[in-house]
Amino acid sequence: MTKQIDVMSLYPKDMNIYGDSGNVLTIRRRLELYGYEPVIHQYNQGDDWPGHVDMILGGGGQDTGQKKIIDDFYSRADLLRSLAGDGVPMLMICGLYQLFGEYFETVDGTKLDGIGVIGAYTVGQDVRMIGNLVEHSDQFGDVIGYENHSGQTFLRDGTRPLGHVDADGCGNNGEDHTEGARVNNVIGTYMHGSLLPKNPAISDFLIETAATRRYGSFDASDQTPEQAAALAHLDETAAAARRTAA
Ligand code: GLN
Repeated sequence: MTKQIDVMSLYPKDMNIYGDSGNVLTIRRRLELYGYEPVIHQYNQGDDWPGHVDMILGGGGQDTGQKKIIDDFYSRADLLRSLAGDGVPMLMICGLYQLFGEYFETVDGTKLDGIGVIGAYTVGQDVRMIGNLVEHSDQFGDVIGYENHSGQTFLRDGTRPLGHVDADGCGNNGEDHTEGARVNNVIGTYMHGSLLPKNPAISDFLIETAATRRYGSFDASDQTPEQAAALAHLDETAAAARRTAA
């Protein structure tokens, strides 16, 4: 039986900077190597929503990109909230992480309401937070990436961060050492990089959750020895990048 997994790339035209499209490529490749059949749906403003979605990947964007997609995003807000509530795994980087929160007030004073999946709000400041970042996550261990944002995000009481950053990184706001957020199976984070090629534990969480929701379990028994070797090679490459960063 071919086990198809439907992956949505959310607003790749306007929300895709600092290599975020690499997350989609990584998920596609790892799904193939586990013996699944990935189907990638690119969703941009005005597109039809696909009939079935197992996972949603969203990238970062300039404030201008966020303003471009916002009306379409609001038209999909109920759907996204209900999919998140149902446990669909989602990864939202930077600009879309901010818009999954309550609001983002940009540095020029424009207030963009978010869709409130994540209990957090973001306020733009003049000084950008830029640099390589290492965070420590209970669920995923050390997570490595790169941040570049003007928005400072503050988690509401009770919102779980994805992890905690050392003194070198800024993370959510440069003040409280938190980075990102975790709600149901939604991960919000400032980590570009791309994130997923360097952090296989997060890729596998998204894949295993998607497969389990759709087929009842995650099952890589169709994997060939060649695919297993190729996957091990990807993981070694990631491990080397992680050793350099840590
Ligand atoms: N425009 C947002 C900010 O500067 C998000 C940037 C990003 O996605 N890297 O905070």
